[in-house]
Amino acid sequence: MDSVREAELVSALGAIRARIAAACDSAGRDPQELTLVAVTKTFPAADVATLVRLGIVDVGENKDQEARAKITELAELAPEAAPAVRWHVVGQLQTNKARSVVRYAYAVHSVDRIKLATALADAAATRRDEPLEVFLQVNLDPDAAGDTIRGGVPVDGVMELAAVVADRSELRLRGLMAVPPLDADPDAAFARLAELSAQLCARYPGADAISAGMSADLEAAIRHGSTHLRVGSALLGRRAPKVG
Ligand SMILES: *Cc1c(COP(=O)(O)O)cnc(C)c1O
Repeated sequence: MDSVREAELVSALGAIRARIAAACDSAGRDPQELTLVAVTKTFPAADVATLVRLGIVDVGENKDQEARAKITELAELAPEAAPAVRWHVVGQLQTNKARSVVRYAYAVHSVDRIKLATALADAAATRRDEPLEVFLQVNLDPDAAGDTIRGGVPVDGVMELAAVVADRSELRLRGLMAVPPLDADPDAAFARLAELSAQLCARYPGADAISAGMSADLEAAIRHGSTHLRVGSALLGRRAPKVG
């Protein structure tokens, strides 16, 4: 085990927990209401093993292939701890990955279209026992028609998509997820998300989770009712720039 890396992760995790505690204190919230999802994309399974030893249970990945490889490796590195990890898929998902994802994912945060919801439910019907937790990813950028980078269902499509998910016993509608539009004020974006969440909850009381807040904007997300923080770089360090 790499003790320098472990010390880095201990310190970064302590700093994140302190930020969460301070933001909850200002917002009058209980940190226990929040789930910290460690987004480990591009980082090795050894880092996941270390984080799990430090108490992390929820781990996020955005690519199916990378997630599968890491899960296999983690099972070798930490055979006792690995089964307790809950894997969260946080990235845009192609429909043809549904059959793979339902085998290991605890939750998918990026369900943004009916076709994907149906593919996940159909795959889950034969490939898993527990319902898959589903967050609907909402596109909060009014100018972003067809934005394929951030993704998300348009605001006026949320209820229709929710109805499809709620109708399938293989899926459990947990709530909404969003990434603030580029250059947007995160407070304004998360306030809008909270409004949409209230509308969704009025119809589906169990769908009260809000997946919002990343390394740069978790305080704003906590102010606006986030329940699931997806934190990558502030915990694991800078990701290598993408090639190609
Ligand atoms: C990478 C990623 C994160 C984590 O982002 P950081 O800014 O590194 O904390 C959160 N959510 C999604 C959807 C991501 O792809």
